[in-house]
Amino acid sequence: MRDEAVSKIFEAASEEGRDFLFEHEAKNLCGLYGLPVTRIKVEKTEDKAVQAAEEIGFPVVLKIVSPQVLHKSDAGGVLINVKDEDGVRQGYNKILENVKRHVPDAEITGILVQEMAPDGTEVIVGSTKDPTFGPTLMFGLGGIFVEILKDVSFRLAPITRTDAEEMVREIKAYKILEGARGMPPADQETIVDILLATSEMLMECPEIKELDMNPVLVYEKGAKIVDARVIL
Ligand code: ADP
Ligand code: MG
Repeated sequence: MRDEAVSKIFEAASEEGRDFLFEHEAKNLCGLYGLPVTRIKVEKTEDKAVQAAEEIGFPVVLKIVSPQVLHKSDAGGVLINVKDEDGVRQGYNKILENVKRHVPDAEITGILVQEMAPDGTEVIVGSTKDPTFGPTLMFGLGGIFVEILKDVSFRLAPITRTDAEEMVREIKAYKILEGARGMPPADQETIVDILLATSEMLMECPEIKELDMNPVLVYEKGAKIVDARVIL
């Protein structure tokens, strides 16, 4: 059952000649492996987007879905904390306007409506493929920790639970996960579960060349993957 659903996701991308998955496809894939993704719906009209937002529950986040827009916020393609029907209607059109300005020839596949995840500790889980050894797994804290300090841990997939626990503990900023400086502690068991499920997904999906779950918001209990990018 899962294999079939997984194949369908990759087939759709390949039929359209895409070498990447849209965020909603990447999240659907992640969801099939038990990863905690946000609730999502892709819609092609303002009315449908309103309906989707009502089903998901306010506040919501709206994002552009376009094959020409991989980095959505750079193109003005992300609106967070959209609180009501009016906000969805305005936001829907605002995003289309922004994207047209930034990427004039962008084809619009739709607008992604999703649950707004509460603030949490930002972490990143990623993967690149080593030509010899296959998929690798990367873990780090979000923002400056990865981008500037390169404070990350790596393993080759597949990993064991012990590997995943070590990956979490060996980053220099580990104390932040423990709840330093008045921050609430982050649910490390959930992070370990995410790393294990990601490892399983990478082993079963050789199509994945690169994976970037950035950010994953981690809470005292549980976590939410709010953005996922897959390169094929
Ligand atoms: P990009 O393609 O630019 O990386 P993202 O999907 O990561 O776009 O969205 C940009 C930022 O908006 C994220 O880094 C996060 O801070 C916030 N964001 C995106 N989706 C959500 C969500 N569902 N809930 C809460 N915040 C979100
Ligand atoms: Mg992102």
